[in-house]
Order: sequence, then structure tokens, then C-alpha cells
Amino acid sequence: MSNAHGEHLSFGVGAEGRRGCIEVVCGSMFSGKTEELLRRVKRARFARQRVLLFKPRIDNRYDDVKVVSHEGIKAEATAVSSSSELASFVDLERPGNDAHVVGIDEAQFFDDAIIDVVERFANAGLRVICAGLDQDFRGKPFGPMAALMSIAEYVTKLHAVCTRCGAVACRSQRLVGTEGQLFVGGAADYEPRCRRCFVPGVVDG
Ligand SMILES: [Zn+2]
Repeated sequence: MSNAHGEHLSFGVGAEGRRGCIEVVCGSMFSGKTEELLRRVKRARFARQRVLLFKPRIDNRYDDVKVVSHEGIKAEATAVSSSSELASFVDLERPGNDAHVVGIDEAQFFDDAIIDVVERFANAGLRVICAGLDQDFRGKPFGPMAALMSIAEYVTKLHAVCTRCGAVACRSQRLVGTEGQLFVGGAADYEPRCRRCFVPGVVDG
């Protein structure tokens, strides 16, 4: 059973053992992805499930050891440099010993091997929640997010509000000039735009 928001609520131990799954929470900047990840994490912890939270080390926007949302909601997270380092924190020989739930913030910045790691976690019975940008500043699929969405049981696509026209926004407009897809911006560097107002791949302040 799941709810309408793509969250796997029946997670737990059944007669046939613990059932894993993959959930993806995606959207543009300012769509509330991290808040949604942290909401799910908080509820799992309230149910006394062990949760491990990870984030890529590349994201040093605010601080190194916490998943930090734009609204300042915080949770402890382990910063890792690669998907293999992330995998080293979870012992799949004893699923549930280290974690029942694995949360990954800013999943778009991970290498493609994260797809296999997430699949192995879910196959071993873990609930894996990946949050990240589905599109880069060109409006193209961002890193491993498209593949993660395709193998996930549940996908939640969140939206922001277009800063130009007030419509539903699904894209992140870059406002400052920086090379490369991996550029990590803060609140001042991007704004959410709708399909019509979005100018792909250029700085449009
Ligand atoms: Zn617009």
C-alpha cells in the first residue's frame, strides 16, 4: 500500500521478510525536495526505523555534515565522495543492522554507479529514498536521476512557482555564469521557471 504522494508506507517486515523499495523525490530548485526527504526520514525515525542519510561531498553549500534544506530544516547526513564510498557504510549481509531506510540527498551529483548501489540496497530489503534535481540548467536529465526514476517503485515530482509568471515551474534557471553541469548553486544563483519562461543553458538574470 502506498499513499498518493509516492511514499512507501507499508515498508516493514512481512512473513516473507523485509521488503525493499526505491522512492525518488525530484523537481526543480525550490520545489521542496529536501524538505520532503526529511519529512519521510523523520516519520521513519519516529517509527523507530534506523535511517542513514547521505549527501555528496561536492555539495558544500552550507555545511559538511548535514542535509540542509533552503528552509533551514536540518538532519545529520554523512558526506561521501562516491557511490562506492556510500555503499561501504551499509552492510547488506545484515540488512536492517545498519539501516532500514537509506536517504540520499542531491542524488543528481552521484556517479552512475549509484544506480546499482540503490538497486542492491532495495533488493536486500532496504527502503531507499533518493532526492535530487531531475533537470540541469539546460533542462536535460541530470546525472543518474533519469535512471533512478525508471527503476524506482515510486516517483514524486515536486514543482516550484515560476518567478516570472507564477505558473507551475519545473526548471531551474541559472542566473550567474559558471561552467559545467556540476555547478552547485545557492538560493541566489538559480530561480524556478516554467517551460515558457525558461531559457535553456544560458544565464538569464
Ligand atoms: Zn513562467
